[in-house]
Amino acid sequence: MQTTQIFKILALLVLLIGGETQASTYIVKPSETFYSIAKRYGVDVNQLMKVNNFRDARTLRAGQRLSIPSSKSTSSSKKAFKPTKKSLRIVLDAGHGGKDKGACWHGVRESDLNLRVVSRVQARLEARGYDVTMTRTSDVFISLAKRAKFGNRYRNSIFVSVHFNASSDTRVHGAETFYAGGKEGYYLASSIQSELVKKLKVVNRGARIAKFTVLTATRCPAVLVECGFISNSWERERCKTSNYQSTAAQAIVAGIERYDRSF
Ligand SMILES: [Zn+2]
Repeated sequence: MQTTQIFKILALLVLLIGGETQASTYIVKPSETFYSIAKRYGVDVNQLMKVNNFRDARTLRAGQRLSIPSSKSTSSSKKAFKPTKKSLRIVLDAGHGGKDKGACWHGVRESDLNLRVVSRVQARLEARGYDVTMTRTSDVFISLAKRAKFGNRYRNSIFVSVHFNASSDTRVHGAETFYAGGKEGYYLASSIQSELVKKLKVVNRGARIAKFTVLTATRCPAVLVECGFISNSWERERCKTSNYQSTAAQAIVAGIERYDRSF
């Protein structure tokens, strides 16, 4: 009696150890579903259906034999979650840099703020499966023509230049997004602009046409985003915070995603 018990335990152990590394067989009990079986074995529902050649989960019946894939392979694939690869490439351009600091007000340099926002945009886009190209990732000077060339390297891309604004009239504040023309440029600019206004709760200065070099020399849809005025003391204090920079990045990404869903 005791020996049979030991054998039973040993057999169970073999099953348990074996189940982790190789596929095992399971007989479906009444009222069980792919979901309940997958959950019990800690495997992916889709993979469970796939290895058993099921297309419709509703066709599962009690008494059927199922191969249970190794939980090891499914859990490791779960850990290394990869987003669906997007076909659109985003060329991100942090305005100014190096000897060109852009607008400078009370120790706040536009070139620094631009880079901080762009890095956050990059991280968010890559997490969503987008390929991202950066015109600069550090405090270096790059000519406008060279920046535009980045946008012309790829077949399916958009170009997004990030800036902060300044005006001699220090009362002026708000966000605006420029594009050079065209239906796609307009849509990209207005998508980003409306997300900026909604998320940052700033004055809406609109999506506007401008003939900036980075916009006119790029062949793909291109926009230049002005996230806020650092010449306005109230807005400058907001722009300096990492919270504002993160929210601006979120808004830019939301605008890009909205554009990507439409074109
Ligand atoms: Zn600028």
